[in-house]
Amino acid sequence: MPIDPNISPHDALRVEVLSEALPFIQRFSGRRVVIKYGGAAMVDEHLREAVFRDIALLASVGVRPVVVHGGGPEINQWLKRLAIEAVFQEGLRVTDPATMDVVEMVLVGRVNKQIVNGLNHVGGNAVGFSGADGGLVQARTHGDGSLGLVGDVARVNPAVIIPLLDLGYIPVISSVAPNAEGQSYNINADTVAGELAAALDAEKLVLLTDTPGILRDRADPGSLIRHSTLSQARELIASGVVAGGMVPKTECCIRALAQGVKAAHIVDGRVPHALLLEVFTKAGIGTMVVGSSSG
Ligand code: ADP
Ligand code: MG
Repeated sequence: MPIDPNISPHDALRVEVLSEALPFIQRFSGRRVVIKYGGAAMVDEHLREAVFRDIALLASVGVRPVVVHGGGPEINQWLKRLAIEAVFQEGLRVTDPATMDVVEMVLVGRVNKQIVNGLNHVGGNAVGFSGADGGLVQARTHGDGSLGLVGDVARVNPAVIIPLLDLGYIPVISSVAPNAEGQSYNINADTVAGELAAALDAEKLVLLTDTPGILRDRADPGSLIRHSTLSQARELIASGVVAGGMVPKTECCIRALAQGVKAAHIVDGRVPHALLLEVFTKAGIGTMVVGSSSG
């Protein structure tokens, strides 16, 4: 087709890209997508704004995004100011009561509101929650309790956010939740995102992080595993290919998929517009885990 000399190639490309997104927009419109927001995409000012714009764009085209966030770097910064040592085991933060106070203040009080403000600033309609609000998440002690106030998700009740999603609001959820007795727990944000995706019958779970995805060799960014089935993902944990903070990520993908979520994505949040690349292009950019090899 001859290109009209009055249309700049730049503009032609722009509308072409937009047009190519149509089948994806149609497919995901009205569907829920749970996004775990963290890593560099949370720290770098430009990436942060790009992520907020992407999320607002998803909401504008009818996708129903739900944001779950951690805030590791900011928690570490405040722990340091208060001279409390940050300790990790198996990718999880050892959480004594003093650390828990800081986790709760930083995640619920500060990080959550920064994200809500950032999304609203670019035209989103964001509303902040912790696991406590509306009984959204109930925690229980993780493992034998040796990590302190680290929680697992005992139960998710998304009733409070469903009407908001239907009204076009973007729920932003921090990964702090009380147990049955009202004690606050620190839960890995990936875990909360996975359980929430399952409870919401989400189309997708997208985990933004600081690696290209699951790497076959974690020292080699070129060894990205683009596609994995549930059973292959289990194998990657069992064989030790996946370690550290990638373990809760991969595990929550597995749990979400086993409970009916269609696809889980581990994506490099350092890449501008990683979220849109993953949702609106066929190839995507990170690791996609699906329930069966057909997906
Ligand atoms: P986030 O802050 O996004 O939750 P984490 O640091 O908790 O990120 O988890 C991601 C980290 O997991 C990577 O930076 C990497 O050090 C580690 N990791 C372990 N195994 C792998 C693997 N196979 N592929 C990629 N990253 C891995
Ligand atoms: Mg982590």
